[in-house]
Amino acid sequence: MAERMIVIGGDAAGMSAASQARRRRDRSELEIVAFERGHFTSYSACGIPYWVSGVVQERDELIARDPKTFRDEFGIEVRTRHEVTAIDLDRREVVARDLDGGGEVRAGFDTLVYATGASPVQPDWARDDVSGVFGVQTLDDGAALIDWLEREPRPRHAVVVGGGYVGVEMAEALVQRGLTVQLVEQADQPMSTVDPDMGELVAEAMRATGIGVRTGLEVTGLQERDGRISAVVTDEGPIPADVVVLGLGVRPNTALAEAAGLSIGPSGAVRTDRRMRVPGVSGVWAAGDCVESLHRVSGMPVHIPLGTHANKQGRVAGINIGGGHATFPGVIGTAVTKVCELEVGRTGLRERDAREAGFEFVTVLAQSTNRAGYYPGSRPMTVKLIAERPSGRLLGAQIVGWSEAAKRIDALAVALWNGMTVDEMTALDLGYAPPYAPVWDPMLIAARKAVDALAAGGR
Ligand SMILES: Cc1cc2nc3c(=O)[nH]c(=O)nc-3n(C[C@H](O)[C@H](O)[C@H](O)COP(=O)(O)OP(=O)(O)OC[C@H]3O[C@@H](n4cnc5c(N)ncnc54)[C@H](O)[C@@H]3O)c2cc1C
Repeated sequence: MAERMIVIGGDAAGMSAASQARRRRDRSELEIVAFERGHFTSYSACGIPYWVSGVVQERDELIARDPKTFRDEFGIEVRTRHEVTAIDLDRREVVARDLDGGGEVRAGFDTLVYATGASPVQPDWARDDVSGVFGVQTLDDGAALIDWLEREPRPRHAVVVGGGYVGVEMAEALVQRGLTVQLVEQADQPMSTVDPDMGELVAEAMRATGIGVRTGLEVTGLQERDGRISAVVTDEGPIPADVVVLGLGVRPNTALAEAAGLSIGPSGAVRTDRRMRVPGVSGVWAAGDCVESLHRVSGMPVHIPLGTHANKQGRVAGINIGGGHATFPGVIGTAVTKVCELEVGRTGLRERDAREAGFEFVTVLAQSTNRAGYYPGSRPMTVKLIAERPSGRLLGAQIVGWSEAAKRIDALAVALWNGMTVDEMTALDLGYAPPYAPVWDPMLIAARKAVDALAAGGR
């Protein structure tokens, strides 16, 4: 009789695991059943801002594979609108509620993949009785927001609460739809994933595009008129709004795991080993936004919920379940985003992380341009490097600039991943032609500055 693999969560991590396991074991050996509480599988939450802005026209463009494709082409059964409500490790079964049909189903498993993702942080002041306030985690959330934006009376004033990458991407999307946008952030600058000096560059650029950036400001409540949002209340008074988008970060969905007694790590997410097995229980795997990862620079367990990790971790789990051998070696926190034309990239540790991890370090900022100064389209680019003292090992890097800025971070991520020193980096054979870089690429200028700072013994 075939073994059965149950997957909880039908998006990036869960369906990557299912697909990889299927590539190695056919239906006669392994039955695969995925439970997904939403309507969709393998969808790109990352694409929601671009769907809201109109850059992506149709919802279905964000769906890589639907349940029918999984069933017909991969022999993977997906039960959408089924929410798993309990995991019984003794009986090795899950209990799921049929959200549309009603009733409960039980399904036994030999192998379980826990891939429940993460949920947006809900502030205390969020209210169910006020319409016009949206999170953006699922395609249903995106559809509800678009419906609100297109319904009469059409919203004209938007407030985005939270200045992380989801917040800045949503601010861009709403500006592109012609709304006036205020972004409210409790911290002193948006994009707290970069250091304050780099975040300030992001704030300046956002203001220049007409987005109101209100930092150091806390939202404490909502005002409504006839059940519709009319303003957000802050400690400096109300800000008028007829649509509010929340981007306050996410928390790993661990409730089911905790109730079943699965191991939760210090970051608050599910703990796994390098093969994505949950320690202490046989045949249980976890991947994606619900798990923590090893940070390869600080050595600490971290919760960095990104699609890039979810896909890789799901793949690793699936290969192992299928009888192969794969490991997930950890993360270095590489991330890119854009707000209007401004691009932001980061990898490794921020100054504050490096300090907390006990490193001695120097930091340098290099101001240069994306292309040769004389070449049309040359725009400013700022590169920040953080290098260990006295070794010179690269600990972190951040880039803010216009076109061709964000993906430059990948070269720095490879250097950091491989433990390069800034001295070694100065000799890197990077591509040069006037349309693509100045003769000294901004990354090389920054590396040279870091070498000088280390030689001067400064900080
Ligand atoms: C607006 C936005 C933009 C983003 N942009 C980027 C980006 O540019 N780059 C990047 O790397 N990442 C980005 N991300 C993050 C990325 O989308 C996530 O890291 C990725 O989706 C995580 O995949 P996952 O499978 O772990 O979790 P999820 O995608 O959250 O999927 C988990 C699934 O589990 C289901 N589920 C949960 N509990 C149960 C249950 N009890 N029973 C049944 N089903 C359940 C959920 O419905 C969900 O479909 C973005 C996210 C958002 C919201």
